[in-house]
Amino acid sequence: MMIIMRTSASQEQISHAIAYVEQNGLNVHLSRGTERTIIGIVGDIRRISKETIELMDGVDNVMRISKPYKITSREFQPENSIINVNGVKVGSDEILIIAGPCSVESREQLLESALAIKEAGGHALRGGAFKPRTSPYAFQGMGEAGLELLAEVREITGLPIVTEVMATEQVDLVAKYADVLQIGARNMQNFNLLHAVGKTDRVILLKRGMSATAEELLMAAEYVLSNGNRRVILCERGIRTFETATRNTTDINAIPVLQAQTHLPVILDPSHSTGKWEYVLPIARAAIAAGADGLIVEVHPHPEEAVSDGAQSLKPEKFAQMVRQIRAVAEAVERKVK
Ligand code: PEP
Ligand code: MN
Repeated sequence: MMIIMRTSASQEQISHAIAYVEQNGLNVHLSRGTERTIIGIVGDIRRISKETIELMDGVDNVMRISKPYKITSREFQPENSIINVNGVKVGSDEILIIAGPCSVESREQLLESALAIKEAGGHALRGGAFKPRTSPYAFQGMGEAGLELLAEVREITGLPIVTEVMATEQVDLVAKYADVLQIGARNMQNFNLLHAVGKTDRVILLKRGMSATAEELLMAAEYVLSNGNRRVILCERGIRTFETATRNTTDINAIPVLQAQTHLPVILDPSHSTGKWEYVLPIARAAIAAGADGLIVEVHPHPEEAVSDGAQSLKPEKFAQMVRQIRAVAEAVERKVK
């Protein structure tokens, strides 16, 4: 539910409405727009009376949120959420670029990748230590040793770490090392995991399930937000369609669709959405042109030797070219790459 205050409402009237809600054991989120102030209400709304609030001075009206997700919706919070990652204000006009290998393989591989990414203008380092592989016989990741390498490379380069957490029992361990916890496509509806990361103070990168609708992604985000963690970045990573020419089909539509429905930032993964490095640059450009708040891209110093996703990994020179192009596209759509 949300309370829409009149444009002329005084601070006292706003505080009075908030006090009523809080005294009844519910929480509020205040959005002060230039046009109007909205008080979003979180919790069991049966405890408060819509009619009582409507009679308060300064209140224009009280509305139920029409969407099945609440805190995630733009109705609840009209202004964009802005999430700081390494000084980049994601959700503002600033574009976030996350890059790195699919899997952490060795100190040399990770450090070489990170130095090249930093040099080219990337803002954060990705790398999986726990890998959700389709085959149980495929490389499953280095585990904690991989997290230690990520932390060491962060120490050297200053790049914050984005890494996947696959299981509820691993959340504390991964959160100890990571700056951003990635929830992979295969775990988008692992509700216990979403609940657990919602209790952490880390930024969450929530990837869209390969067969999930935009609304299901927003419902998954609601699990995290409703558990207290409001710092969620959504990621479109391609969906399954009848098309087999690419690994997945990039749903470019999802960028403006999600941004219309939610205040959370939306980034795109052109690596998993295409599956081939040759297509990564054009789709990265398209994403920024369509209004994405950032990109997460796989980069490997020697893609032919990669233990996972080599075919879709950019070599460092290509990544540098991508960043140059993204800068130009960002400028054309009144955004910027810091
Ligand atoms: C990844 O980022 O390496 C990954 C496994 O992505 P997704 O969950 O989108 O498949
Ligand atoms: Mn990968």
